[in-house]
Amino acid sequence: MALLVKKYGGSSLATIDHIKKVAQDIAADHQKGNMVAVILSAMSGETDRLIELSRSVSDMPPSPREQDSIVSTGEQISTALMAITLENLGCPAQSYLGWHIPMITDSSYQKARILEVGKDNLMQTLNEGKVAVIAGFQGINDKGDITTLGRGGSDTTAVAVAAALNADACEIYTDVDGVYTADPNICSRARHLNMVTYEEMLELAGLGAKVLQIRAVELARKYKVPLLVKSSFGGNRYTWIREEESNMMEDAVISGVTLDRNEAKISVINIPDEPGVAHRIINPLAESAINVDMIIQNVSIDGFTDLTFTVPSTDLHQATSLIEKVAHEIGAKEVRTNDSIAKVSVVGTGMKNHPGVAARMFKALADENINIQMISTSEIRISCIIDSKYGELSVRVLHGIFELDNSKNK
Ligand code: ADP
Ligand code: ASP
Ligand code: MG
Repeated sequence: MALLVKKYGGSSLATIDHIKKVAQDIAADHQKGNMVAVILSAMSGETDRLIELSRSVSDMPPSPREQDSIVSTGEQISTALMAITLENLGCPAQSYLGWHIPMITDSSYQKARILEVGKDNLMQTLNEGKVAVIAGFQGINDKGDITTLGRGGSDTTAVAVAAALNADACEIYTDVDGVYTADPNICSRARHLNMVTYEEMLELAGLGAKVLQIRAVELARKYKVPLLVKSSFGGNRYTWIREEESNMMEDAVISGVTLDRNEAKISVINIPDEPGVAHRIINPLAESAINVDMIIQNVSIDGFTDLTFTVPSTDLHQATSLIEKVAHEIGAKEVRTNDSIAKVSVVGTGMKNHPGVAARMFKALADENINIQMISTSEIRISCIIDSKYGELSVRVLHGIFELDNSKNK
């Protein structure tokens, strides 16, 4: 008898028929004598709809606390529906919301971090022979408020539950049959990967491969929870994400191409070039828990400089008002924003030993007349900010240039 943790994303729960199909799979595992904890997202499109709804009643962005209260209801519905469907199949089940577990988080609404997972209630339900159907994405803070874990956060709930219950593995069911060298919905020639290390998956997820939320991968690596990514729509293929002696993708110079459309760019123009200005501009963002990703500062001309950086698009509004205030204080000329950007990245440990990757990437983009607005590099990745309208094209071009294309699909 195994203790299984199975997570189903929104696309696997799109309709009542999808929910019934998933319920049959869960009931079959339970029937075999396994203990089964299930983590669910909201039905597909529901979280977007709830975010829109929360924004529709005010000219100002909703308070993060109230927005979390609204968006978490999507998972409340899907888990109760699943528990009812399982009971109807003769499979005993009980749904759990964040506060029932309890899933204790900090108070960073909309991007809360899990502090503790209460396992006693869940274990009692499993020991009583019931399936525990757990709402992903949500938790509760020390004030008793509902918090959410950021988009795609049900993956993180699943890993946290798997670690707390010491499960044998954490199975992530989605609408693709594993992790590919690029998003298979953008690049039809993407190659399926059977095995990816935590480190490689961290890079891919951090750069836009939303098949797993990056925090889920961080947690899985920390607690050594093996992750299995499978399709809930059937098929025999899957990808293991786990620790391995050697990197499975090491042979290739580039092991994957990613696209992230969730960043926006802010430029502060004509800043008096003095010690401390970069800190004064970036610090208010850090204090508001806004992540700054890429940063470039121009060479000073006549004592003035420009600073450009990217933030998550969801934080653009808040970041812009913070930056406008500080720009005024330090005497900068203007603040410009652009949320029609995309970040395209090539990732691969093999890059360390193969010079010239950046040159090949820049040439490939230039050949397609795609302008590069910002560049950042690490030992094993190169990222370029480009106009969002060229995002998908650039993924396909780079996938081909770095010889990742699946020859069967050529
Ligand atoms: P779920 O609703 O199950 O959480 P998501 O939409 O969050 O599903 O994640 C699955 C999607 O991730 C796929 O449909 C695919 O478009 C996208 N994706 C992006 N990059 C990759 C990649 N490298 N490999 C597989 N899927 C990817
Ligand atoms: N429902 C949430 C979202 O759409 C969480 C998730 O799907 O993982 O982001
Ligand atoms: Mg997801």
